[in-house]
Amino acid sequence: MSIIRVGIVGVGKIARDQHIPAIAADPGLELVAVASRSHADVGVPSFGSLEELLGQGPQVDAIALCTPPQVRWETAVAALRAGKHVFLEKPPGATVGEVRDLSVLAAEQNVTLFASWHSRFAAGVPAAKAWLASHDIRSVDIQWREDVRRWHPGQTWIWEAAGLGVFDPGINALSILTEIMPREVFVTEARLQVPENVQAPVAAHMAMTDIAGTKITADFDFLQTGPQTWDITVTAADGVLRLSSGGAQIEIDGKPVVQAHDAEYPGLYARFSELVRAGKSEADVRPLALVADAFLVGRRELVEAFIE
Ligand code: NAP
Repeated sequence: MSIIRVGIVGVGKIARDQHIPAIAADPGLELVAVASRSHADVGVPSFGSLEELLGQGPQVDAIALCTPPQVRWETAVAALRAGKHVFLEKPPGATVGEVRDLSVLAAEQNVTLFASWHSRFAAGVPAAKAWLASHDIRSVDIQWREDVRRWHPGQTWIWEAAGLGVFDPGINALSILTEIMPREVFVTEARLQVPENVQAPVAAHMAMTDIAGTKITADFDFLQTGPQTWDITVTAADGVLRLSSGGAQIEIDGKPVVQAHDAEYPGLYARFSELVRAGKSEADVRPLALVADAFLVGRRELVEAFIE
C-alpha cells in the first residue's frame, strides 16, 4: 500500500482542528471522503453516514472516527466488518468491554485498530517516561483544569452518560500517567461532583497508587476561568519533574528541559500509518479503565452548578 486513503466519520471540532490538517500534512495519507450527519463540506465527497460512504463513495483503506464516544462502537464495527483499518479518537469507546470487543474483531478481520491517545504524543512525554524509569518516584500530582465553555461549546454529548464530563479532558492526563509510570497504576478513591441537571461530573478528585505505594493524586475541574492548567508533577527521592501545557513542556528541578509546540496529531497519524503498514494494532484501555474504576469507587456529590 503506498498512500493510505482515509475517510473521516463525524466532522466536528477535533476533525476540523486536528485530523484534517494532520492528514493533509502527511505524504503517506490522503483524505478521500467524510461521513457527516450535517453534510459537512470540507472539500472531499461528503456522505450522510458511514454506510453511504462505504457503499457509494471512493475506495478507502482506513476510517478515522471523530464522533462522540457514545456512538463509537457501532461505527467501528461497521468499518472493521468492511475490512477497513480503524483510528479511534479518545476515549476509544463508551466502555472498556466495547474496546476489547473491537480488538478481537480487528484481529479476526486482519486489519489495524488504533485506539489513539493524543496526549501521549506531546513532546515531553518520552523524556518524562525515561526520567521516571531511572528515578525513585515518591508521588505524582495531576492538576487538569480547563474551561468547558471555551473548549467544548454546545457539546451536549459530553454531559450525557458515557460522555465523561470532566474526564473527557481528564482522561488525557491519565493516558500520560499510564504511559510514563514504570508500574501499573490503580484507583483507591474518587470523588465526583455531578451537577444536578446532567449525568457526568464537572469536577473530580482521584487517589491512585501502584505496587510500590506511590502516592498519586489527580484534580480535574471543568469550570476553570483565566489561565488553563494541564500539569503533572512527579516528585522523586532526588528531584522534581514537572510536565506542563498538557505534556509539551518539561522542567526538572525548575530548569526547562523540553519546550515545544503542540505536534500531537501529526505524531498520532505517523503512528497509525506505521501500524497499518506493519499489520499491527494498538488499543490500550488502561486510561479508560481508570476512569471506569473512578466511577465504580467514586462518591458522588450533587452540585448546584447548572450546565447549559
Ligand atoms: P464535536 O465538535 O461535538 O464533534 C463530533 C461530531 O461527531 C459532530 O459534529 C457530528 O458531526 C458527529 N456526530 C455523530 N454522532 C453524533 C452524536 N450522536 N452526537 C453528536 N455528534 C455526533 O466533538 P469533538 O470535540 O470533535 O469531539 C469528538 C471526539 O474527539 C470526542 O471523543 C472527544 O473526546 C475527542 N477529542 C476532542 C478534542 C477537542 O479539543 N474538542 C480534543 C481531542 C479529542 P457530523 O455532523 O459531521 O456528523
